[in-house]
Amino acid sequence: MKCADVVIIGAGIAGASMAYFLVQRGCKDVMIVEKEDSPGYHTSGRSAAVLSQLDVDEVFMKLSLMSVPFFYSPPSGFADVPLIHPNGILVVGQGASFKLLCGLARLAGRLGIASQEWSPEETVGRLPALEKRFVDGGLFITKDGALDVHALLWGFLNGAKKGGARLELNAEVTDIHVEDHRVRGVTTRAGEIACRWIVNAAGAWANPTALLAGARPLPLTPCRRHIIVTRPREDFPIGDWPLTMDTSRHFYFRPESGGILASPMDQEPMEPCDAKTDEIQVARAADFLTRFTPKIAPKTIINQWAGLRTIAADNAPVIGEDPEVKGFFWCAGQAGHGMETSPALGEIAAHLLLEGYTSRFPEALIAPGRFHRGRLAWPAIVARRAASFLGWLARPNRP
Ligand SMILES: Cc1cc2nc3c(=O)[nH]c(=O)nc-3n(C[C@H](O)[C@H](O)[C@H](O)COP(=O)(O)OP(=O)(O)OC[C@H]3O[C@@H](n4cnc5c(N)ncnc54)[C@H](O)[C@@H]3O)c2cc1C
Repeated sequence: MKCADVVIIGAGIAGASMAYFLVQRGCKDVMIVEKEDSPGYHTSGRSAAVLSQLDVDEVFMKLSLMSVPFFYSPPSGFADVPLIHPNGILVVGQGASFKLLCGLARLAGRLGIASQEWSPEETVGRLPALEKRFVDGGLFITKDGALDVHALLWGFLNGAKKGGARLELNAEVTDIHVEDHRVRGVTTRAGEIACRWIVNAAGAWANPTALLAGARPLPLTPCRRHIIVTRPREDFPIGDWPLTMDTSRHFYFRPESGGILASPMDQEPMEPCDAKTDEIQVARAADFLTRFTPKIAPKTIINQWAGLRTIAADNAPVIGEDPEVKGFFWCAGQAGHGMETSPALGEIAAHLLLEGYTSRFPEALIAPGRFHRGRLAWPAIVARRAASFLGWLARPNRP
């Protein structure tokens, strides 16, 4: 039987980043087990690949803000290419929702998220594919940009492997051994592994994985989202545009391989699976481009895919040891933020597993135990998050 100190289930961005930071902190006996034949096959290989810090949710906003320095200056030797193409993110919209977002951006500015407000003329001048009649203005988030998710995922994996971690592919975990409420090992399709810790970084399969360990499932819902890549009908020059998100119509687009990548920002709950596309959502994405950005209306759809974003009921990630099954550590619920928060979340998770605490983040906001207190937990969760946000706002220049 093989042995490891820590077995990480899942070689997506959550498992890879946590393995990297465990190794960095001296825990080298780590084994990542992945059911597919390549890392990042599921959600991590299907994202829109951007860093977009502004969010109505403070937990993910803080975590992506904390990750920014890593993207701009990764450790030496982490990747051969820059992790970020810093061309910003442009948010456009109309009416009250757009005004609210501009207000939020001003608040977020106090936290260190720099943005510029553009008039409708300036917005269309900078992004000529937009129609002035559909935008009340633009909000440009300056330090955002496109992430190289391949370099990021492999940077974490190669860094972990260099430090001693092992990666086993085609090794689906089919059973988890627990004795006296403590994990002892796993059965995989590639054999058995004895271990002290098991990390549940199984993405959409986080709850089925918890059930294998006899842990209580948490309110985590995998939700499908679509992306299409199109060739525009007209020969309209596509510039180095930022990802542009229309908050009034709920869709986004950005340049991709000489064409346009777009998403209808759908969010359909589903059972964990290898998500396939649905023609209605593909048509919706194409329709958004045709109606609201007619200059880049699609001629053909050259690629399409769907992935599952796994979202916790309070829209915060779930990071920490299970309160009832010792040694079973959750690293799940990254929702639509797993890439942009991976440096901060991987490091926080490694701290929590090895030291049992972290000074980097209020751990109660992300602990799995927050859901274990039944209905009474909700007022406590809301109060804790409000207090944390207000406390954070009160501290100027806080990254
Ligand atoms: C359309 C779309 C756009 C997105 N855009 C962005 C974006 O622009 N920026 C951003 O930051 N985030 C974005 N996201 C979200 C981001 O992709 C996810 O948060 C992130 O990939 C989740 O990573 P993960 O490692 O938890 O899950 P996954 O990548 O799904 O990894 C989980 C792994 O666990 C493995 N596994 C499961 N069960 C077992 C088992 N029993 N045994 C062994 N292995 C197992 C799976 O095979 C899988 O490889 C987007 C997501 C989607 C779908």
